[in-house]
Amino acid sequence: MVRSASAGLTVRMRTQVAIVGAGPAGLLLSHLLAQGGVDSVVVETRTREYVESRIRAGILEHSTVELLRSAGLGSRLLQEGAEHRGIYLQWPGERHHLDFLELVGRSVWVYGQTEVQKDLGRARDAAGQQVIYDVRDTEVHEPATPYVTFTVDGRLTRLDADVVVGCDGSFGPTRAVVPGTTWQRTYPYSWLGVLADVAPSTDELIYAWHPDGFALNSMRSPTVTRLYLQVPSDTDIDDWSDDRIWQALADRLGHGQDGWRLQSGPITEKSVLPMRSLVQAPMRNGNVFLAGDAAHIVPPTGAKGLNLAVADVGLLAPALVALLRENDPRLADTYSDRALRRVWRCTHFSWWMTTMLHTGDDPFDAQLQLSQLRWVASSVAGATGLAENYAGLPIGF
Ligand SMILES: Cc1cc2nc3c(=O)[nH]c(=O)nc-3n(C[C@H](O)[C@H](O)[C@H](O)COP(=O)(O)OP(=O)(O)OC[C@H]3O[C@@H](n4cnc5c(N)ncnc54)[C@H](O)[C@@H]3O)c2cc1C
Repeated sequence: MVRSASAGLTVRMRTQVAIVGAGPAGLLLSHLLAQGGVDSVVVETRTREYVESRIRAGILEHSTVELLRSAGLGSRLLQEGAEHRGIYLQWPGERHHLDFLELVGRSVWVYGQTEVQKDLGRARDAAGQQVIYDVRDTEVHEPATPYVTFTVDGRLTRLDADVVVGCDGSFGPTRAVVPGTTWQRTYPYSWLGVLADVAPSTDELIYAWHPDGFALNSMRSPTVTRLYLQVPSDTDIDDWSDDRIWQALADRLGHGQDGWRLQSGPITEKSVLPMRSLVQAPMRNGNVFLAGDAAHIVPPTGAKGLNLAVADVGLLAPALVALLRENDPRLADTYSDRALRRVWRCTHFSWWMTTMLHTGDDPFDAQLQLSQLRWVASSVAGATGLAENYAGLPIGF
C-alpha cells in the first residue's frame, strides 16, 4: 500500500491484463488467458449475484459452443442446453421450418446467458481467479502504459497492467479512451421481452412477421419460455398488462392457426429493450483493447450480441498470450481488423433480420418484406444464406 496525497490510502495492484467488466466477454477472456499462462484481474461494477441473474441472450451459435467446449466450459451446456436444428419463419397463414443442419451442417444451442455466466464464474473460482465485484468510479488511464483506478469497500485502488481490456458493455468507460469512428443506427422500435413459467409451445424458435409488429417465441428451458413483441421505442412497460401481452403474442404468433396453441403462464420478468446498431473502430488504442458490447451493439433479432463477444475474445486471447509471453505483437496488431471483419458481417445480418421482420407504416415496405420472407423460406439459396449467418460463421471469418 502507498499513501496517496489526494485520496488518502491507495491500494496498488499489478497484473498482466486488467479486464474491466465481468460479463461473458470479460470472464471468458480471463479464463482463456489463464489457460495460456497469462495473469489477469477482473473488475466489475455490479455484484456477482446481479451479473449471474441478468436476463439477456439465450442462443449460442456453433462456433461459440465449440470454443466453450474446447476451453473446458461445455459440460453443463451440453447436458442442460438444447440443440436446435433451425428456426421457424412465419407470417399470417404460413409457417416454414429452416433446417440449418441440413442447409449448412451447423446447429445452434439454447442456453441462457445467465447459465453461461454461472459456468464462467465457477470456472474462475476453481482457478482461484481474482474478480473484484461491486467496484465504483472505474477509470482507465494512459493507453500507452495503462492502469485502471476504482474504489472498492471505500478504498481507492490502482491496478497497473501491461494491457487493459474493456469488456465493460455498451455504457462502460473504456470506449472513451479508444478514439476512432463510431457508426450508429437507432431503430424506431423496441422489444418488450418477457420470461414466463410455462413450457415452450414449440420445439424451436418462431420468428413471426405480423402487420401489428414482429413477435418471437423463444425458450430458456423445458419449463421456461422467453417471448418478445415489437413495440414503439417510447413504450412504457406499465401500459402492458400481462393479459395485453399474452393477447398480442397470441395474435401475432398465430394461436389457433392449424391447431397450434400458444401456452400462457405466469410472467416472471418483463422489460423493454431498445434496438440499435453501433460499431466502434478501431478496437484498440495503444495497450488498451475493446471486446464485446464495449465495441459494438447489434439489435437482438439475429441473436449475435453474446456470440460476437465470445468471437472477439476468441481472437484476442491468443493475441495477448503471444504478445505477453513471446513478445510477438503480430496477432495483437491485427486483432482490431480481424475482429471488425466479423463484427460488420454480424452487424449486417442483424440489420437484415431486423428490417425484414419489423413492420412500420409503409405498405410498400410490407410487401417487400413478405416477398423477401417467401424467397428465404422457399429457395435453397435464400435459406442457406440465413442459415449460414444464424448458425454462425467461423470465429476467424
Ligand atoms: C439489457 C440487455 C438485454 C439484452 N437482451 C438480449 C436478448 O434478449 N437477446 C440477445 O441475443 N442479446 C441480448 N443482449 C445482448 C447480449 O446480452 C450482449 O451482447 C452480451 O451481454 C455482451 O457481452 P459483454 O460481456 O460484451 O457485455 P456485458 O454482458 O454487457 O458485460 C459488461 C460488464 O461490464 C460491467 N461494467 C460496466 N461498466 C463498468 C465499470 N464502469 N466498471 C466495471 N465494470 C463495468 C457491466 O456491469 C457488465 O457486467 C442484451 C443486452 C443488454 C444490454
